[in-house]
Amino acid sequence: MIEFSKVTKSYSVGTRALKGVSMQIEDGEFVFLVGPSGSGKSTIIKLITGELKPTSGTVHVNGYSLERIRKREIPYLRRTVGVVFQDFRLIENKTVYENVAFVMRAIGAREREIRERVPYVLNLVGLDTKSRRHPGELSGGEQQRLAIARALVNNPSTIIADEPTGNLDPARSLEIMSLLAEINNLGTTMLVVTHEMDLVERFPRRVITIDDGLVVHDGMDGYYQYENQ
Ligand code: ADP
Repeated sequence: MIEFSKVTKSYSVGTRALKGVSMQIEDGEFVFLVGPSGSGKSTIIKLITGELKPTSGTVHVNGYSLERIRKREIPYLRRTVGVVFQDFRLIENKTVYENVAFVMRAIGAREREIRERVPYVLNLVGLDTKSRRHPGELSGGEQQRLAIARALVNNPSTIIADEPTGNLDPARSLEIMSLLAEINNLGTTMLVVTHEMDLVERFPRRVITIDDGLVVHDGMDGYYQYENQ
């Protein structure tokens, strides 16, 4: 579960990125987080992953209290949250298989587990036939699938996708969003940051709209027209 209670975040005097955000995302939910540039979306993500601490208020993520988490606990928190970025962040000189195996090795997984789990997640994202390729030999959509496989491989309870379709054409974007919905159906909580109104409309889910550091709308009734405010 992700729970923000009256969260504020100031970067420096005069920059109040969040001004009192309260929201709760239950296990297994699929939520879109939308809002104009500079509204505070990245700040929310960084508070969830423990990159930042709130200035005031409380942030609870999968059993951890982020306002008082210890540095040595952060790696354990991060195993519960997989992050998918717009720019994929793949390792170019490693194969598809190794890009995924790498994040299992990073947490000390055994080779035997790796040999079982990596093919499973590559199959889930539809890359089972490309395991020996390198990222540079994949299309944009395939690279994003690989990034999703990597975020998934350590079996996090939550995935945060930060503009996952920002670099893809509409058809590929739809495929990626379908894949995220499928993964959510398997039980993973999904928080998707996006600007793409068309996609949000095609996947009727809860939408949290943030503007100027505040939640201005939270509901199942589609994309809130913040541009027209
Ligand atoms: P979004 O992701 O919605 O574009 P951000 O969370 O990145 O919004 O930014 C929210 C506000 O905080 C903006 O006014 C931005 O300029 C400011 N901000 C973000 N990061 C920093 C930082 N490291 N130092 C100072 N101000 C920042």
